[in-house]
Amino acid sequence: MATKLPTPPRVGMVSLGCPKNLVDSERILSRLRADGYDMSSDYAGADVVLVNTCGFLDSAKAESLEAIGEAIAENGRVIVTGCMGREAEVIRDRFPQVLAVTGAHQYEQVVEAVHEAAPTAPSPYLDLVPQARADLGLKLTPRHYSYLKISEGCNHRCAFCIIPQIRGDLVSRRPDAILREAEKLVAAGTRELLVISQDTSAYGLDLKHAAYPWKGAEVRAHMTDLARALGQLGAWVRLHYVYPYPHVDRVIPLMAEGLVLPYLDIPFQHASPKVLKAMKRPANEARVLERLRQWRAQVPDIAIRSSFVVGFPGETEEDFRYLLDWLAEARLDRVGAFRFEPVEGAAANDLPGAVPPEVKEERYARVMELTARISAEKLAAKVGRSVDVIIDAVDGETGGATGRSKADAPEIDGEVHLRDSGHLAPGDIVRVTVEDSDEHDLFGVPERVAAAA
Ligand code: SF4
Repeated sequence: MATKLPTPPRVGMVSLGCPKNLVDSERILSRLRADGYDMSSDYAGADVVLVNTCGFLDSAKAESLEAIGEAIAENGRVIVTGCMGREAEVIRDRFPQVLAVTGAHQYEQVVEAVHEAAPTAPSPYLDLVPQARADLGLKLTPRHYSYLKISEGCNHRCAFCIIPQIRGDLVSRRPDAILREAEKLVAAGTRELLVISQDTSAYGLDLKHAAYPWKGAEVRAHMTDLARALGQLGAWVRLHYVYPYPHVDRVIPLMAEGLVLPYLDIPFQHASPKVLKAMKRPANEARVLERLRQWRAQVPDIAIRSSFVVGFPGETEEDFRYLLDWLAEARLDRVGAFRFEPVEGAAANDLPGAVPPEVKEERYARVMELTARISAEKLAAKVGRSVDVIIDAVDGETGGATGRSKADAPEIDGEVHLRDSGHLAPGDIVRVTVEDSDEHDLFGVPERVAAAA
């Protein structure tokens, strides 16, 4: 039976007050957009309305209360955040029906309140941001990294995917709007920007790659120009969902220059030309292994992450072996594998040659075994070397910390475990000597701690 798909909830936003409040509003919206919410420009179309208040002057408070009243009258499902959140009782006395009140800069709480009021149904077929494990509850982005969504929809028609039916064709955001959002995120403490979309390499196609004014110059709506401009903001820039179109080669020099992280997340999905053709995958050309070699020659530390589907209808043992041989040669750094499942509305459901569940399981286990071995070997080669690590969490009790190297995206890749964090805080970037490794993770010590020991 095909998997049923959810429709995304819609959020309306009323933002009052100073530019700092606007930064907060943009940050909240960028996180919600990345979480799969759609935005509503009117009260009627919103499942929940956020009012980001100002409480600086009495007149601003009066304006905020008026805005909350209007949102309640027009929609009824209202969450209040911002500076007036300090006066939660005043708000609750006057409007007992508000769903939640959170204070200024409490991005995590307000996003959590939206998830409670209008939950998204997690779907591996629609989500761009990795889902937290259900047993750990909702995991929100810490302030030091942010997802930056650059476009919506997709022009391709991959046989297993229903994104184009649900989200429509590609609609790119203007590059100046993306850069403005990114600049505000960096000003608010973001040290790593995770660029996401359904097809990052296609960015700007619908805008005919036009140039837009940015900081007294121009920036084209094109992946390479956007990546360069983002790289100049001073945060780590990580590119996700990049298809290997020829122009991707032009992003590699930006990695060599240090403007973009030496990391590419390319969902290859398969290697067999026959299966790729049946999947109707974009940029499906034979030279990928050769291009991987060229990229590695230019940027030896480049980390390539990818995902693969096993058991696609019509996949024979021969096709599957082709994939295994390809993986053995490509030696990708990180690999996620999925067993094919029909999704309601996808063209692949009607294809002949369904692969029996036990065969899918067996192929899945073989891919995982091979790729885990390659990952372990690649990580072992880093022992004794120095790597830059962004700190995600510090353990006050043990004095240890957890972070990620440039080769690790949050939630989906590995971690670097530090046995002595000194006085580090989340978001710090430190140089670490790698002491040990396993299949997924590295273990090490910050260099200034090692030097002092
Ligand atoms: S490229 Fe293919 S898999 Fe990706 S969103 Fe578009 S249609 Fe779906």
